[in-house]
Amino acid sequence: MPALDTLQRPMRDLRISVTDRCNFRCTYCMPFDEYKWIERQEVLSFEEIERLVRLFLAFGIQKVRLTGGEPLVRKDLHRLIAQLTAVEGLPDISLTTNGALLSEQADALYAAGLRRINVSLDTLKPDRFTALTKRGKLEDVLVGLFAAKNAGMSPIKLNAVIIRGSNDDEILGLIEFARTALRCVSSSTWTWAMRTPGVSRKQ
Ligand code: SF4
Repeated sequence: MPALDTLQRPMRDLRISVTDRCNFRCTYCMPFDEYKWIERQEVLSFEEIERLVRLFLAFGIQKVRLTGGEPLVRKDLHRLIAQLTAVEGLPDISLTTNGALLSEQADALYAAGLRRINVSLDTLKPDRFTALTKRGKLEDVLVGLFAAKNAGMSPIKLNAVIIRGSNDDEILGLIEFARTALRCVSSSTWTWAMRTPGVSRKQ
């Protein structure tokens, strides 16, 4: 029998954060350089995550999305993907990532069974990208995107956080890039979120 939320809707989607760590420090999400991370022994093991997924399946969960932090900084994440794709009755697994480590992991993730990914991309200006993420390089994400495409992943979705006064002048440019990406990265779509300066995800 499906589990219901407080509005009596069946809960179908399960998001699992595999790590609280990230290789970026996006200004709207992790504005500080250092954080007190969850102790390693308190982080769920792959086996514990698999067990949780099996338990939630019994309550009607149909989709599992792996998130972080940045999930690809979790060592050997492809092993977890392989474990979850082997779970009988779980039709849909996806991953949300900043894309910076995709170029080195896309093949292993695909081989493990991952098909659907969401990649965050807030700007197409290299300097602005580094300023927004504090540690990221735009080129790494673009290379990662096409590594995912070349590995065979589909659909690849792109997420953009548009911040007034920061990157809202790039909406048309991002849409134009989406048209290009739609030719080069099949089945891509864009999703958008608007943020007001000074309001971070952690608040
Ligand atoms: S928004 Fe994503 S990529 Fe940026 S710091 Fe937060 S978790 Fe990392």
